[in-house]
Amino acid sequence: KVPRPATELDAPFFTSCQEPDTTAERENAIFVMLARNQERHKAKKTIKSIEEHFNKWFNYPIMFLNDEPWDPRFIADLNKTAGGKGIFEVIPKEQWTFPDWVDQESAKKNIKAQGAADTPHAGLEGYHHMCRFYSGKFYQLDILKDYKWYWRLEPDVDFTCAITYDPFVQMAKHKKVYGYTIALWEVGTSCPSLFRTTADWKELRGVPSSTLWNAMIEASWMPFPFRRFLSWVSHRDAYGDAWSLCHYWSNFEIADMDFFRSQAYQDYFNYLDKKGGFYNERWGDAAVHSLAVAMLADPQQVHHFEDIGYRHAKFYQCPANAPGGQLPSSPSLGKKAWSPEIAGGIGCRCECNGKKTHNYQSYCLDRLKEPNTPKKRWFS
Ligand code: GDP
Ligand code: MN
Repeated sequence: KVPRPATELDAPFFTSCQEPDTTAERENAIFVMLARNQERHKAKKTIKSIEEHFNKWFNYPIMFLNDEPWDPRFIADLNKTAGGKGIFEVIPKEQWTFPDWVDQESAKKNIKAQGAADTPHAGLEGYHHMCRFYSGKFYQLDILKDYKWYWRLEPDVDFTCAITYDPFVQMAKHKKVYGYTIALWEVGTSCPSLFRTTADWKELRGVPSSTLWNAMIEASWMPFPFRRFLSWVSHRDAYGDAWSLCHYWSNFEIADMDFFRSQAYQDYFNYLDKKGGFYNERWGDAAVHSLAVAMLADPQQVHHFEDIGYRHAKFYQCPANAPGGQLPSSPSLGKKAWSPEIAGGIGCRCECNGKKTHNYQSYCLDRLKEPNTPKKRWFS
């Protein structure tokens, strides 16, 4: 077993490779991939990769979601790639459309304008529905209500290390609610008013800014257990009135749906939804999830899967186990705390190219990890 600095609060669940325990009890969990029919080949690539690196041992079901009827070729191909574990569902229309209070005509005009202004994806109506869906409606789907945990997949993903233990079981065991691999900054033009609206919601729910904060949480005097403002994700501003734009990149997520189904989270989502920002701006589910986790989860309930090799688009996380792989990020300890041979235990049989790692360690990742280190700057 590879030693890890004792002060680290969010260590990997295991180091090096395990003998996959194929008979162990599973969690109530499912993979979910939202995709379009024309993404068949890219979807296959992802499923092949997760099957080879994890699911051939653990055999969790894989639900494919689409807002349109599935092309039979997609179903045939992907079910084969998923080793027969595929479930193919169509999202009910009411969970993939403008809410009643949004004026569709002006929203559509607005979407066109956002596209013309080159905000990524913002010119596509479907993309806005997708962001709203993943921000809130997803957690209410009837077809998912019997599951507690999900692992989100997207077309065009590579998993580059063997995952030889069950992340769902470990998340449950360690009382985690949210797990991620890559941290990134959001495109500011997609969400100019998201943080202000989030702060408004927080204030509306009567969150004080006094030092009585923790005592009040402990005494359950507050309707929801907000953590002290949002300084975890905010930009060196104790009051959190600006946001660094750092967020967990949500195309990879392993999370507890009950967190997102909670009254507090759904209230937050509904508040955002009422403001129309999923259409008048292009609020992303990654930003929304991240802000919610910062407010509503304890830092120790968040897990960085730094042992999972992951690539999507041009972004990589390549664990230290790979040649040239990324040393573990320990903002309070610095990279010096790690020698390459100690860190080499982070990950199992990683086959990624360490030189291609792009996880923006110092800019975003370290800031998001800070609450899980002894420095705990968010308390200052
Ligand atoms: P990016 O990762 O933010 O660059 O955006 P993607 O194009 O990868 O979209 C994110 C996820 O939503 C992927 O799983 C897509 O397949 C899915 N997605 C986006 N728009 C649509 C849509 O209109 N219909 C369906 N069915 N899926 C969509
Ligand atoms: Mn994507």
